[in-house]
Amino acid sequence: MSRNPNNQSFPAPHAPSYYAATAHAAPERPPLAGAITTQVCVVGAGFSGLATAVSLAERGYQVVVVEASHVGWGASGRNGGQLVNGYSRDLDVVESRYGAKAAQALGSMAFEGAAIIRERVARYGIDCDLRDGGVFAALNENQLDELKTRVTSWQSYGNDALQMLDERTIREHTNTDLYIGGLLDKRGGHLHPLNLALGEAAALESLGGVIYERSPVTKVQPGAKPVVHTDGGQVRADTVVVCGNAYLGKAVPALRDRVMPVATQVMATEPLGAETANRLMPAGSCVEDCNYMLDYYRMSADHRLLFGGGTVYGGTTPADIEAKLRPHLARTFPELAKARIDYAWSGNFALTLTRIPHMGELEDNVYFSHGYSGHGVTTTHLAGRLLAEAIDGERERFEAFAALRNYPFPGGRLFRVPLSVLGSWYYQAREKMGL
Ligand SMILES: Cc1cc2nc3c(=O)[nH]c(=O)nc-3n(C[C@H](O)[C@H](O)[C@H](O)COP(=O)(O)OP(=O)(O)OC[C@H]3O[C@@H](n4cnc5c(N)ncnc54)[C@H](O)[C@@H]3O)c2cc1C
Repeated sequence: MSRNPNNQSFPAPHAPSYYAATAHAAPERPPLAGAITTQVCVVGAGFSGLATAVSLAERGYQVVVVEASHVGWGASGRNGGQLVNGYSRDLDVVESRYGAKAAQALGSMAFEGAAIIRERVARYGIDCDLRDGGVFAALNENQLDELKTRVTSWQSYGNDALQMLDERTIREHTNTDLYIGGLLDKRGGHLHPLNLALGEAAALESLGGVIYERSPVTKVQPGAKPVVHTDGGQVRADTVVVCGNAYLGKAVPALRDRVMPVATQVMATEPLGAETANRLMPAGSCVEDCNYMLDYYRMSADHRLLFGGGTVYGGTTPADIEAKLRPHLARTFPELAKARIDYAWSGNFALTLTRIPHMGELEDNVYFSHGYSGHGVTTTHLAGRLLAEAIDGERERFEAFAALRNYPFPGGRLFRVPLSVLGSWYYQAREKMGL
Protein backbone atom coordinates (compact mmCIF):
# COMPACT_ATOMS: atom_id res chain seq x y z
CA MET A 1 0.00 0.00 0.00
CA SER A 2 1.30 3.52 -0.78
CA ARG A 3 0.35 6.39 1.49
CA ASN A 4 1.25 10.04 1.05
CA PRO A 5 1.81 12.54 3.87
CA ASN A 6 -1.74 13.81 3.36
CA ASN A 7 -2.94 10.51 4.82
CA GLN A 8 -4.57 9.43 1.59
CA SER A 9 -4.05 5.71 1.10
CA PHE A 10 -3.82 3.83 -2.19
CA PRO A 11 -4.03 0.10 -1.40
CA ALA A 12 -2.35 -1.80 -4.20
CA PRO A 13 -2.81 -3.10 -6.73
CA HIS A 14 -6.62 -2.86 -7.33
CA ALA A 15 -10.01 -3.07 -5.62
CA PRO A 16 -11.19 -6.72 -5.39
CA SER A 17 -13.35 -6.39 -8.50
CA TYR A 18 -14.42 -8.64 -11.34
CA TYR A 19 -12.34 -6.35 -13.55
CA ALA A 20 -9.14 -6.83 -11.54
CA ALA A 21 -9.70 -10.60 -11.71
CA THR A 22 -10.10 -10.53 -15.51
CA ALA A 23 -7.66 -7.75 -16.45
CA HIS A 24 -5.16 -8.24 -19.24
CA ALA A 25 -1.55 -8.59 -18.14
CA ALA A 26 0.13 -5.21 -17.66
CA PRO A 27 3.77 -4.29 -17.17
CA GLU A 28 4.88 -3.26 -13.67
CA ARG A 29 5.78 0.40 -14.05
CA PRO A 30 8.45 1.82 -11.75
CA PRO A 31 7.91 4.59 -9.21
CA LEU A 32 9.29 8.02 -10.00
CA ALA A 33 12.90 8.31 -8.77
CA GLY A 34 14.95 11.49 -8.96
CA ALA A 35 14.36 14.71 -10.87
CA ILE A 36 13.13 14.75 -14.47
CA THR A 37 11.73 17.33 -16.87
CA THR A 38 8.97 17.07 -19.44
CA GLN A 39 6.54 19.23 -21.39
CA VAL A 40 3.37 18.09 -19.61
CA CYS A 41 3.05 16.21 -16.32
CA VAL A 42 -0.34 14.61 -15.62
CA VAL A 43 -1.27 13.59 -12.05
CA GLY A 44 -3.43 10.45 -11.97
CA ALA A 45 -3.77 7.54 -14.40
CA GLY A 46 -7.55 7.23 -14.50
CA PHE A 47 -9.56 8.01 -17.63
CA SER A 48 -9.14 11.80 -17.14
CA GLY A 49 -5.37 11.57 -16.90
CA LEU A 50 -4.93 8.93 -19.59
CA ALA A 51 -7.31 10.63 -22.03
CA THR A 52 -5.48 13.93 -21.53
CA ALA A 53 -2.09 12.28 -21.92
CA VAL A 54 -3.05 10.35 -25.08
CA SER A 55 -4.68 13.44 -26.65
CA LEU A 56 -1.49 15.43 -25.95
CA ALA A 57 0.84 12.67 -27.15
CA GLU A 58 -1.19 12.40 -30.37
CA ARG A 59 -0.46 16.11 -30.84
CA GLY A 60 3.25 15.46 -30.41
CA TYR A 61 3.68 16.51 -26.77
CA GLN A 62 6.12 14.82 -24.42
CA VAL A 63 3.99 13.58 -21.49
CA VAL A 64 4.74 12.03 -18.10
CA VAL A 65 1.93 10.55 -15.96
CA VAL A 66 2.45 10.15 -12.21
CA GLU A 67 0.03 7.71 -10.55
CA ALA A 68 -0.28 7.06 -6.81
CA SER A 69 -1.14 3.39 -7.23
CA HIS A 70 -1.60 1.64 -10.60
CA VAL A 71 -3.16 2.50 -13.95
CA GLY A 72 -6.96 2.44 -13.52
CA TRP A 73 -6.80 2.02 -9.73
CA GLY A 74 -9.47 4.69 -9.05
CA ALA A 75 -13.04 4.91 -10.31
CA SER A 76 -11.91 4.33 -13.89
CA GLY A 77 -10.85 0.74 -13.36
CA ARG A 78 -13.79 -0.33 -11.19
CA ASN A 79 -16.93 1.41 -12.45
CA GLY A 80 -20.13 0.06 -13.98
CA GLY A 81 -18.50 0.19 -17.41
CA GLN A 82 -21.46 2.04 -18.91
CA LEU A 83 -20.85 4.54 -21.72
CA VAL A 84 -23.51 7.05 -20.82
CA ASN A 85 -23.84 10.01 -23.15
CA GLY A 86 -24.52 13.53 -21.92
CA TYR A 87 -23.75 14.90 -18.48
CA SER A 88 -25.07 14.12 -15.06
CA ARG A 89 -27.47 17.07 -15.46
CA ASP A 90 -29.75 17.37 -18.46
CA LEU A 91 -29.07 20.20 -20.91
CA ASP A 92 -32.32 22.01 -20.07
CA VAL A 93 -31.03 22.35 -16.48
CA VAL A 94 -27.71 23.66 -17.86
CA GLU A 95 -29.68 26.19 -19.89
CA SER A 96 -31.78 27.39 -16.96
CA ARG A 97 -28.71 27.74 -14.71
CA TYR A 98 -26.06 29.01 -17.14
CA GLY A 99 -28.01 30.30 -20.16
CA ALA A 100 -28.64 29.23 -23.76
CA LYS A 101 -25.08 29.88 -24.97
CA ALA A 102 -23.56 27.56 -22.37
CA ALA A 103 -26.19 24.88 -23.05
CA GLN A 104 -25.50 25.14 -26.79
CA ALA A 105 -21.74 24.77 -26.24
CA LEU A 106 -22.07 21.82 -23.86
CA GLY A 107 -24.79 20.22 -26.00
CA SER A 108 -22.56 20.30 -29.07
CA MET A 109 -19.99 18.20 -27.15
CA ALA A 110 -22.39 15.89 -25.29
CA PHE A 111 -21.81 12.83 -27.52
CA GLU A 112 -18.12 13.29 -28.26
CA GLY A 113 -16.72 11.35 -25.30
CA ALA A 114 -18.25 8.05 -26.43
CA ALA A 115 -17.01 8.71 -29.98
CA ILE A 116 -13.46 9.28 -28.67
CA ILE A 117 -13.56 5.94 -26.84
CA ARG A 118 -14.73 4.09 -29.96
CA GLU A 119 -12.03 5.83 -32.02
CA ARG A 120 -9.28 4.88 -29.54
CA VAL A 121 -10.47 1.29 -29.20
CA ALA A 122 -10.34 0.97 -33.00
CA ARG A 123 -7.08 2.87 -33.55
CA TYR A 124 -5.06 1.14 -30.83
CA GLY A 125 -6.78 -2.26 -31.03
CA ILE A 126 -7.91 -2.16 -27.39
CA ASP A 127 -9.61 -5.38 -26.32
CA CYS A 128 -12.21 -4.28 -23.72
CA ASP A 129 -15.47 -6.12 -24.56
CA LEU A 130 -17.03 -2.96 -26.06
CA ARG A 131 -20.73 -3.33 -26.93
CA ASP A 132 -23.23 -0.79 -28.25
CA GLY A 133 -26.54 0.16 -26.64
CA GLY A 134 -27.50 1.87 -23.38
CA VAL A 135 -31.00 2.05 -21.91
CA PHE A 136 -32.43 4.56 -19.43
CA ALA A 137 -35.30 2.74 -17.71
CA ALA A 138 -38.37 4.57 -16.37
CA LEU A 139 -40.20 3.35 -13.28
CA ASN A 140 -43.07 5.85 -13.51
CA GLU A 141 -44.77 8.35 -15.82
CA ASN A 142 -42.73 11.32 -14.54
CA GLN A 143 -39.50 9.57 -15.47
CA LEU A 144 -40.89 8.60 -18.87
CA ASP A 145 -41.88 12.23 -19.53
CA GLU A 146 -38.36 13.36 -18.60
CA LEU A 147 -36.92 10.85 -21.07
CA LYS A 148 -39.18 12.19 -23.83
CA THR A 149 -37.87 15.70 -23.10
CA ARG A 150 -34.32 14.32 -23.24
CA VAL A 151 -34.95 12.83 -26.70
CA THR A 152 -36.05 16.20 -28.08
CA SER A 153 -33.08 17.93 -26.49
CA TRP A 154 -30.46 15.34 -27.54
CA GLN A 155 -31.84 15.15 -31.09
CA SER A 156 -31.47 18.91 -31.35
CA TYR A 157 -27.76 18.43 -30.53
CA GLY A 158 -27.32 15.76 -33.20
CA ASN A 159 -27.94 12.39 -31.54
CA ASP A 160 -30.00 10.55 -34.15
CA ALA A 161 -29.62 7.13 -32.53
CA LEU A 162 -32.37 7.40 -29.90
CA GLN A 163 -35.48 5.26 -29.60
CA MET A 164 -38.25 5.46 -27.01
CA LEU A 165 -39.22 2.07 -25.58
CA ASP A 166 -42.63 1.08 -24.23
CA GLU A 167 -43.51 -1.44 -21.56
CA ARG A 168 -43.16 -4.28 -24.09
CA THR A 169 -40.09 -3.21 -26.07
CA ILE A 170 -37.99 -2.41 -23.01
CA ARG A 171 -38.20 -6.13 -22.20
CA GLU A 172 -36.00 -6.78 -25.23
CA HIS A 173 -33.28 -5.05 -23.20
CA THR A 174 -34.18 -5.95 -19.62
CA ASN A 175 -36.64 -8.74 -19.09
CA THR A 176 -38.29 -7.55 -15.88
CA ASP A 177 -41.73 -6.14 -15.14
CA LEU A 178 -40.26 -3.20 -13.16
CA TYR A 179 -40.32 -0.60 -15.90
CA ILE A 180 -43.08 1.15 -17.81
CA GLY A 181 -40.75 2.15 -20.66
CA GLY A 182 -37.43 3.74 -21.36
CA LEU A 183 -35.02 5.27 -23.82
CA LEU A 184 -32.50 3.34 -25.91
CA ASP A 185 -29.38 5.28 -26.90
CA LYS A 186 -27.63 3.25 -29.57
CA ARG A 187 -24.58 5.49 -29.15
CA GLY A 188 -24.37 4.41 -25.50
CA GLY A 189 -22.84 1.07 -24.63
CA HIS A 190 -20.61 -0.74 -22.18
CA LEU A 191 -17.12 -2.15 -21.75
CA HIS A 192 -14.52 -3.58 -19.36
CA PRO A 193 -13.22 -0.30 -17.92
CA LEU A 194 -9.96 -1.58 -16.45
CA ASN A 195 -8.99 -3.15 -19.77
CA LEU A 196 -9.82 0.14 -21.50
CA ALA A 197 -7.55 2.02 -19.06
CA LEU A 198 -4.75 -0.53 -19.52
CA GLY A 199 -5.16 -0.29 -23.31
CA GLU A 200 -5.01 3.49 -23.19
CA ALA A 201 -1.89 3.35 -21.01
CA ALA A 202 -0.24 1.08 -23.60
CA ALA A 203 -1.38 3.45 -26.37
CA LEU A 204 0.23 6.35 -24.53
CA GLU A 205 3.49 4.45 -24.17
CA SER A 206 3.42 3.56 -27.87
CA LEU A 207 3.35 7.33 -28.53
CA GLY A 208 6.39 7.92 -26.30
CA GLY A 209 4.56 8.83 -23.05
CA VAL A 210 5.93 7.60 -19.71
CA ILE A 211 3.90 6.41 -16.70
CA TYR A 212 5.21 6.14 -13.14
CA GLU A 213 3.16 4.01 -10.74
CA ARG A 214 3.20 3.75 -6.91
CA SER A 215 4.12 7.44 -6.83
CA PRO A 216 1.66 9.50 -4.75
CA VAL A 217 2.05 13.19 -5.52
CA THR A 218 2.51 15.17 -2.32
CA LYS A 219 2.59 18.68 -3.72
CA VAL A 220 2.29 20.67 -6.95
CA GLN A 221 4.61 23.65 -6.68
CA PRO A 222 3.40 26.52 -8.89
CA GLY A 223 5.74 28.70 -10.96
CA ALA A 224 6.78 29.44 -14.51
CA LYS A 225 7.72 25.76 -14.65
CA PRO A 226 5.57 24.01 -12.01
CA VAL A 227 7.07 21.05 -10.15
CA VAL A 228 5.22 17.87 -9.19
CA HIS A 229 6.68 16.32 -6.03
CA THR A 230 6.53 12.73 -4.83
CA ASP A 231 8.47 11.16 -1.98
CA GLY A 232 10.93 9.72 -4.47
CA GLY A 233 11.30 12.45 -7.07
CA GLN A 234 10.15 15.56 -8.89
CA VAL A 235 8.85 16.32 -12.37
CA ARG A 236 9.48 19.84 -13.64
CA ALA A 237 7.08 20.61 -16.50
CA ASP A 238 5.89 23.45 -18.71
CA THR A 239 2.33 22.44 -17.80
CA VAL A 240 0.75 20.27 -15.11
CA VAL A 241 -2.70 18.68 -15.33
CA VAL A 242 -4.26 17.43 -12.08
CA CYS A 243 -6.61 14.46 -12.61
CA GLY A 244 -6.86 12.89 -9.12
CA ASN A 245 -10.64 13.33 -8.98
CA ALA A 246 -12.26 11.83 -5.83
CA TYR A 247 -8.98 10.32 -4.60
CA LEU A 248 -6.85 13.48 -4.68
CA GLY A 249 -7.27 14.17 -0.96
CA LYS A 250 -5.20 17.11 0.26
CA ALA A 251 -2.44 16.91 -2.36
CA VAL A 252 -3.75 20.03 -4.13
CA PRO A 253 -5.55 21.97 -1.37
CA ALA A 254 -7.23 24.45 -3.77
CA LEU A 255 -9.23 21.59 -5.31
CA ARG A 256 -10.28 19.88 -2.11
CA ASP A 257 -13.59 21.61 -1.46
CA ARG A 258 -14.70 21.87 -5.07
CA VAL A 259 -15.98 18.28 -5.18
CA MET A 260 -17.31 15.76 -2.68
CA PRO A 261 -16.26 12.07 -2.81
CA VAL A 262 -19.26 9.76 -3.12
CA ALA A 263 -19.01 5.97 -2.92
CA THR A 264 -21.05 3.63 -5.10
CA GLN A 265 -20.89 -0.15 -5.24
CA VAL A 266 -20.95 -2.90 -7.85
CA MET A 267 -21.23 -6.68 -7.50
CA ALA A 268 -20.78 -9.49 -10.02
CA THR A 269 -22.85 -12.68 -9.93
CA GLU A 270 -21.51 -16.09 -10.74
CA PRO A 271 -21.48 -16.82 -14.51
CA LEU A 272 -25.15 -17.31 -15.43
CA GLY A 273 -24.64 -19.08 -18.76
CA ALA A 274 -25.49 -17.76 -22.20
CA GLU A 275 -29.12 -18.91 -22.12
CA THR A 276 -30.00 -17.08 -18.88
CA ALA A 277 -27.99 -14.00 -19.84
CA ASN A 278 -29.72 -13.74 -23.22
CA ARG A 279 -33.14 -14.28 -21.66
CA LEU A 280 -32.66 -11.61 -18.97
CA MET A 281 -30.99 -9.04 -21.21
CA PRO A 282 -31.69 -10.19 -24.79
CA ALA A 283 -30.27 -7.19 -26.68
CA GLY A 284 -27.02 -7.06 -24.72
CA SER A 285 -27.46 -3.37 -23.81
CA CYS A 286 -26.64 -1.88 -20.43
CA VAL A 287 -29.34 -0.35 -18.23
CA GLU A 288 -29.56 2.43 -15.67
CA ASP A 289 -32.84 3.38 -14.07
CA CYS A 290 -34.00 6.98 -13.66
CA ASN A 291 -34.19 7.07 -9.86
CA TYR A 292 -32.28 9.69 -7.87
CA MET A 293 -30.36 6.79 -6.23
CA LEU A 294 -30.08 4.74 -9.37
CA ASP A 295 -29.50 1.04 -10.08
CA TYR A 296 -27.25 0.24 -13.08
CA TYR A 297 -26.48 -3.15 -14.55
CA ARG A 298 -25.28 -5.10 -17.56
CA MET A 299 -23.99 -8.52 -18.56
CA SER A 300 -20.25 -9.12 -18.70
CA ALA A 301 -18.63 -10.89 -21.63
CA ASP A 302 -18.65 -14.12 -19.58
CA HIS A 303 -22.38 -13.77 -18.75
CA ARG A 304 -22.24 -12.47 -15.21
CA LEU A 305 -24.67 -9.79 -14.18
CA LEU A 306 -22.69 -6.75 -13.00
CA PHE A 307 -25.14 -4.89 -10.78
CA GLY A 308 -24.40 -1.48 -9.29
CA GLY A 309 -26.10 1.04 -7.07
CA GLY A 310 -25.98 2.66 -3.68
CA THR A 311 -24.62 6.07 -2.85
CA VAL A 312 -22.58 6.98 0.21
CA TYR A 313 -21.87 10.71 0.51
CA GLY A 314 -18.37 11.30 1.82
CA GLY A 315 -17.02 8.15 0.15
CA THR A 316 -16.94 5.49 2.86
CA THR A 317 -17.21 1.82 1.91
CA PRO A 318 -20.29 -0.01 3.27
CA ALA A 319 -19.49 -2.95 5.59
CA ASP A 320 -21.58 -5.43 3.57
CA ILE A 321 -21.92 -4.48 -0.08
CA GLU A 322 -23.73 -7.66 -1.05
CA ALA A 323 -26.38 -7.17 1.65
CA LYS A 324 -26.91 -3.63 0.44
CA LEU A 325 -27.28 -4.45 -3.28
CA ARG A 326 -28.94 -7.87 -3.22
CA PRO A 327 -32.51 -6.59 -2.54
CA HIS A 328 -32.21 -4.32 -5.61
CA LEU A 329 -30.96 -7.24 -7.71
CA ALA A 330 -33.81 -9.48 -6.46
CA ARG A 331 -36.40 -6.81 -7.19
CA THR A 332 -35.07 -6.46 -10.76
CA PHE A 333 -34.60 -10.15 -11.55
CA PRO A 334 -36.38 -12.30 -8.92
CA GLU A 335 -34.82 -15.47 -10.31
CA LEU A 336 -31.39 -14.14 -9.30
CA ALA A 337 -32.45 -13.49 -5.69
CA LYS A 338 -30.19 -16.29 -4.50
CA ALA A 339 -27.49 -16.10 -7.19
CA ARG A 340 -23.97 -16.48 -5.86
CA ILE A 341 -22.03 -13.24 -5.76
CA ASP A 342 -18.40 -13.72 -6.76
CA TYR A 343 -17.14 -10.13 -6.44
CA ALA A 344 -18.39 -7.02 -4.63
CA TRP A 345 -16.52 -3.74 -4.44
CA SER A 346 -16.87 -0.02 -3.83
CA GLY A 347 -15.34 3.04 -5.44
CA ASN A 348 -15.50 6.80 -5.22
CA PHE A 349 -16.59 9.28 -7.84
CA ALA A 350 -16.45 13.06 -7.38
CA LEU A 351 -19.68 15.04 -7.19
CA THR A 352 -20.02 18.75 -7.96
CA LEU A 353 -22.96 20.69 -6.57
CA THR A 354 -24.18 21.44 -10.09
CA ARG A 355 -23.38 17.89 -11.33
CA ILE A 356 -21.57 19.42 -14.31
CA PRO A 357 -17.87 18.46 -14.72
CA HIS A 358 -15.53 21.08 -13.34
CA MET A 359 -12.46 22.04 -15.39
CA GLY A 360 -10.19 24.99 -15.12
CA GLU A 361 -6.77 26.41 -14.33
CA LEU A 362 -5.31 27.01 -10.88
CA GLU A 363 -2.33 28.93 -12.22
CA ASP A 364 -1.58 29.81 -15.83
CA ASN A 365 -0.01 26.43 -16.41
CA VAL A 366 -1.68 24.16 -13.84
CA TYR A 367 -4.93 22.71 -15.20
CA PHE A 368 -7.43 20.36 -13.60
CA SER A 369 -10.57 18.40 -14.45
CA HIS A 370 -12.81 16.48 -12.06
CA GLY A 371 -16.39 16.13 -10.77
CA TYR A 372 -18.14 14.09 -13.47
CA SER A 373 -20.76 13.29 -10.83
CA GLY A 374 -21.22 9.60 -11.57
CA HIS A 375 -21.27 9.82 -15.37
CA GLY A 376 -17.58 9.96 -16.15
CA VAL A 377 -16.66 7.20 -18.57
CA THR A 378 -17.44 9.33 -21.61
CA THR A 379 -17.00 12.83 -20.12
CA THR A 380 -13.45 12.09 -18.92
CA HIS A 381 -12.55 11.37 -22.52
CA LEU A 382 -14.12 14.61 -23.67
CA ALA A 383 -12.30 16.45 -20.86
CA GLY A 384 -8.97 14.94 -21.93
CA ARG A 385 -9.44 16.23 -25.46
CA LEU A 386 -10.48 19.70 -24.25
CA LEU A 387 -7.50 19.97 -21.89
CA ALA A 388 -5.15 18.96 -24.72
CA GLU A 389 -6.74 21.54 -27.03
CA ALA A 390 -6.36 24.28 -24.37
CA ILE A 391 -2.72 23.41 -23.67
CA ASP A 392 -2.11 23.49 -27.43
CA GLY A 393 -3.62 26.99 -27.66
CA GLU A 394 -7.18 26.14 -28.81
CA ARG A 395 -9.04 27.34 -25.76
CA GLU A 396 -12.60 27.93 -26.92
CA ARG A 397 -14.19 24.58 -26.11
CA PHE A 398 -12.29 24.21 -22.82
CA GLU A 399 -13.43 27.72 -21.85
CA ALA A 400 -17.06 26.70 -22.32
CA PHE A 401 -16.61 24.48 -19.25
CA ALA A 402 -14.04 26.58 -17.39
CA ALA A 403 -16.33 29.62 -17.50
CA LEU A 404 -19.15 27.83 -15.64
CA ARG A 405 -19.34 28.88 -12.03
CA ASN A 406 -18.63 26.02 -9.64
CA TYR A 407 -20.49 26.39 -6.36
CA PRO A 408 -19.09 25.03 -3.06
CA PHE A 409 -21.23 22.49 -1.17
CA PRO A 410 -23.32 24.14 1.55
CA GLY A 411 -22.15 23.31 5.06
CA GLY A 412 -18.40 23.33 4.40
CA ARG A 413 -16.23 20.25 4.96
CA LEU A 414 -17.94 19.40 8.26
CA PHE A 415 -21.59 19.57 7.28
CA ARG A 416 -21.64 18.98 3.52
CA VAL A 417 -22.14 15.22 3.95
CA PRO A 418 -25.15 15.36 6.36
CA LEU A 419 -26.70 18.18 4.31
CA SER A 420 -26.31 16.15 1.09
CA VAL A 421 -27.89 13.13 2.80
CA LEU A 422 -30.84 15.31 3.84
CA GLY A 423 -31.13 16.61 0.27
CA SER A 424 -31.13 13.08 -1.14
CA TRP A 425 -33.87 12.01 1.33
CA TYR A 426 -35.94 14.93 0.09
CA TYR A 427 -35.55 13.91 -3.56
CA GLN A 428 -36.23 10.24 -2.81
CA ALA A 429 -39.36 11.18 -0.84
CA ARG A 430 -40.58 13.24 -3.82
CA GLU A 431 -39.93 10.25 -6.09
CA LYS A 432 -41.94 7.95 -3.80
CA MET A 433 -44.82 10.43 -3.89
CA GLY A 434 -44.59 10.49 -7.69
CA LEU A 435 -43.64 14.22 -7.78
C1 LIG B 1 -18.29 2.09 -8.56
C2 LIG B 1 -18.42 3.15 -9.63
C3 LIG B 1 -19.27 2.93 -10.70
C4 LIG B 1 -19.35 3.90 -11.72
N1 LIG B 1 -20.06 3.59 -12.83
C5 LIG B 1 -20.01 4.43 -13.88
C6 LIG B 1 -20.61 4.05 -15.11
O1 LIG B 1 -21.10 2.95 -15.29
N2 LIG B 1 -20.61 4.98 -16.14
C7 LIG B 1 -20.02 6.20 -15.99
O2 LIG B 1 -20.06 7.00 -16.93
N3 LIG B 1 -19.38 6.55 -14.85
C8 LIG B 1 -19.35 5.69 -13.81
N4 LIG B 1 -18.67 6.02 -12.67
C9 LIG B 1 -17.90 7.28 -12.64
C10 LIG B 1 -16.59 7.16 -13.43
O3 LIG B 1 -15.97 5.93 -13.15
C11 LIG B 1 -15.66 8.32 -13.04
O4 LIG B 1 -16.33 9.54 -13.25
C12 LIG B 1 -14.37 8.35 -13.86
O5 LIG B 1 -13.78 7.07 -13.92
C13 LIG B 1 -13.42 9.36 -13.24
O6 LIG B 1 -12.15 9.21 -13.85
P1 LIG B 1 -10.91 10.06 -13.28
O7 LIG B 1 -9.75 9.67 -14.07
O8 LIG B 1 -11.28 11.49 -13.21
O9 LIG B 1 -10.78 9.57 -11.76
P2 LIG B 1 -10.19 8.19 -11.21
O10 LIG B 1 -10.47 7.09 -12.14
O11 LIG B 1 -10.64 8.05 -9.81
O12 LIG B 1 -8.62 8.38 -11.29
C14 LIG B 1 -7.92 9.24 -10.44
C15 LIG B 1 -6.52 8.66 -10.33
O13 LIG B 1 -5.70 9.63 -9.69
C16 LIG B 1 -4.86 8.98 -8.80
N5 LIG B 1 -4.45 9.93 -7.77
C17 LIG B 1 -5.23 10.55 -6.84
N6 LIG B 1 -4.49 11.32 -6.05
C18 LIG B 1 -3.21 11.20 -6.50
C19 LIG B 1 -1.98 11.75 -6.06
N7 LIG B 1 -1.90 12.55 -5.01
N8 LIG B 1 -0.86 11.41 -6.75
C20 LIG B 1 -0.91 10.59 -7.84
N9 LIG B 1 -2.06 10.03 -8.26
C21 LIG B 1 -3.19 10.34 -7.60
C22 LIG B 1 -5.68 7.83 -8.24
O14 LIG B 1 -4.88 6.80 -7.71
C23 LIG B 1 -6.48 7.41 -9.46
O15 LIG B 1 -5.84 6.37 -10.18
C24 LIG B 1 -18.60 5.11 -11.61
C25 LIG B 1 -17.79 5.34 -10.52
C26 LIG B 1 -17.67 4.37 -9.53
C27 LIG B 1 -16.78 4.62 -8.36
